[in-house]
Amino acid sequence: MNFNILTIFPEMFPGTLSGGVVGRALENKIWSFNAINIRDFAADNYGSVDDSQFGGGAGQVMLPDVLGSAIDSIPHKKRGKIVYFSPRGVVWNQSLAREFVKNSSDFTLICGRYEGIDERIIEEYDIMEISIGDYILSGGEIAAQVFIDSLVRLMDNVVHGGLETTVNESFEIGGLEWPLYTRPSVWRGRNVPEVLLSGHHGNIERWRKQKSDEITKERRPELLKKQGK
Ligand code: SAH
Repeated sequence: MNFNILTIFPEMFPGTLSGGVVGRALENKIWSFNAINIRDFAADNYGSVDDSQFGGGAGQVMLPDVLGSAIDSIPHKKRGKIVYFSPRGVVWNQSLAREFVKNSSDFTLICGRYEGIDERIIEEYDIMEISIGDYILSGGEIAAQVFIDSLVRLMDNVVHGGLETTVNESFEIGGLEWPLYTRPSVWRGRNVPEVLLSGHHGNIERWRKQKSDEITKERRPELLKKQGK
């Protein structure tokens, strides 16, 4: 999997992606990235990438000619799916992540800054807008790292335990995860639920399912409704 990342802050990559399982996968060349500095495509000597908005109002907009040249610098074959991170986009979730990992291996990610990018870029290229949640970030770089992390960990040989680990997580199990415990079995007078120490796999599975349903019902009831529960 390769990610072409268009940003005015290429030094922000790999950033958080250099640690843990995703960082190891980067070292092992399971995935790669190519951070492209949009500023390198500025048309003037000042390296301008933005200008004020037509119609007035506070805040700058990223210039279409500069961003367009930056996108065009990536050969067609290597562009893959083009994504612009934006609060207006489809809200990213685990089932979209599964779908993307299955269907695509090349991505071009546009990280906005200022108020965002000129709308004509979105019309000119086949771009999917993706949001990572209902709040405003100051730039798309963190969104790009969220996106990449969520995809790479679904690739084969990245997460220890593979498919079994990733399918047992929140959202994958049709709700939120059950409570987790490790050693010691008593900590500050608090016991690990007896059933988990019993070695009875059927009972453990039933307990986990029940806890997962309770927690999901309490915190995110809409996830159960989605499944018709
Ligand atoms: N004016 C825009 C917000 C701009 S924030 C609006 O009101 O919708 C600057 C940049 O940060 C955006 O271009 C986008 O790339 C990124 N960004 C901000 N919030 C985001 C979110 N929730 N999800 C994905 N990207 C986001």
